[in-house]
Amino acid sequence: MMPGGAGSPLQQLIAQFGSSVIVIDASQLAAVNVDHRKLYQGKALALALPRSTAEVSKLLAFCNALRIGVIPQGGNTSYCGGTAPDDSGTQLVLSLRRMNTLREMNPVNDSMIVEAGCILADVQRAAADVGRFFPLSLGAEGSCQIGGNLSTNAGGVNVVRYGMTRDLVLGLEVVLADGRVLSTLQALRKDNTGYDLRHLFIGAEGTLGVITAASLKLFPAPRSVATAFVAVPTSASAVSLLNELRTHCGDLVSSFELIPDIAIDLVVRHLPGSRVPLDGTSPWYVLCEITSALPNEPLGERLEAALAAALEAGLVTNATLAQSERERQDFWFIREHIPEAQRRDGPSLKHDISLPLDRLAAFIASAGDWIRDEIPEGYLVCYGHVGDGNLHFNINQTANPVQSPNAAAGALVSRQNEIRRVIHDRVHELGGSFSAEHGIGRHKVEELERYASPLELELMRAIKRTFDPNGIMNPGKVLRIASLSR
Ligand SMILES: Cc1cc2nc3c(=O)[nH]c(=O)nc-3n(C[C@H](O)[C@H](O)[C@H](O)COP(=O)(O)OP(=O)(O)OC[C@H]3O[C@@H](n4cnc5c(N)ncnc54)[C@H](O)[C@@H]3O)c2cc1C
Repeated sequence: MMPGGAGSPLQQLIAQFGSSVIVIDASQLAAVNVDHRKLYQGKALALALPRSTAEVSKLLAFCNALRIGVIPQGGNTSYCGGTAPDDSGTQLVLSLRRMNTLREMNPVNDSMIVEAGCILADVQRAAADVGRFFPLSLGAEGSCQIGGNLSTNAGGVNVVRYGMTRDLVLGLEVVLADGRVLSTLQALRKDNTGYDLRHLFIGAEGTLGVITAASLKLFPAPRSVATAFVAVPTSASAVSLLNELRTHCGDLVSSFELIPDIAIDLVVRHLPGSRVPLDGTSPWYVLCEITSALPNEPLGERLEAALAAALEAGLVTNATLAQSERERQDFWFIREHIPEAQRRDGPSLKHDISLPLDRLAAFIASAGDWIRDEIPEGYLVCYGHVGDGNLHFNINQTANPVQSPNAAAGALVSRQNEIRRVIHDRVHELGGSFSAEHGIGRHKVEELERYASPLELELMRAIKRTFDPNGIMNPGKVLRIASLSR
């Protein structure tokens, strides 16, 4: 039976847009009602699947008039519950998956215009097809959409060289809450004409409008690459190694990822086919890559020389260079499958933090000691984009044969607020961020209220009110505004 009676918002939506755009099929709704980490289970009024910017515009104008909450959803890979509707059955999930056209490829201008529903891996491929490079790369790239990447200002594994998503954008097309279309799709690198509005929507997590298309920067394709898997004795050595690499290789360093031995164990245990790149054991490893747009550059020799100097200085205990693309993929397989291996191992508490590089190792040591001493229910799995000062400081549930797995999970999860508070307070004291690249979503709304200054919050709320006075855009995410939240 169709929910909602005659003249109900749902019936009006179907009457206005048709059942090919307003979907109420239970299995399709089940998939969009829950976020990737299954932190929030909601109940959507329906799923809207528009085909064009004009259709998104009409949908938002309609929802604004009827005060229907709209939850934009991309690939639904958000780590902080940014995509789930609430359980009221009144919010419309809006997916741009049908809007996945490459509108323009412009190698001369080194830019491309894509619709927001394009899968990130497809955007990378389209750039590669014309000999260019779109550097945004992350574990979810086979399913996340460029609209979601923009809306979370995603980071990933190439930030150390190319910056966050924000740094890769020339212009945006956005449908505002009232249905008006703001287009700044021009592909200019220089344009100092007043406030740069695009940056308000990047990282806004769908709370200010719906991004429908983007003009993106392209770069020369890397034509030489060298990748190393390196054993380091401490996390402090990893930070020093980054400096050493920069000294020897300058801005060729494009990735620098920290991996603890425990994460390698998890991947090997849970993902058949994974290969450990180095013999012997080490508490920490670094996966690093240097690239150049010039062909046949002797990058392997350069990286080897840098690692030899680091070995001599005691920063490195062992290292291996990928001898083939296959081996390079094997190295990256380990890094990219840590989140999946963690998920298969059981529940975990995730902290996506960043710190100034000079304080990172001290934080890992002190917070790691605290977890070992105070959290018998869990163990630390700390890895991440250390080149950017970004750690995924996660705690996985300890297997406890005395308890059932569920009871052990319950014990860890029941302490999540206390653990989060200690970790985020320490990060804050050290001048770091409680959300380096995953955003706020629903999961970290209280954290933003705690750590942002009153002035920052006041200005953010004023921006929200300006763009979305009726509070229809992704209500309850990022900011809690009493008069707007439902
Ligand atoms: C295995 C794995 C690895 C990951 N690695 C990384 C990583 O290295 N770095 C990183 O930053 N993140 C990472 N993530 C998190 C996630 O993939 C990113 O945040 C990604 O950018 C989200 O894209 P999405 O299309 O899935 O967006 P969704 O999860 O669908 O949405 C994210 C937010 O954006 C909003 N939104 C989506 N589309 C639009 C739109 N068109 N207009 C307006 N708002 C919109 C949603 O409402 C929501 O608030 C990872 C996730 C997984 C599962």
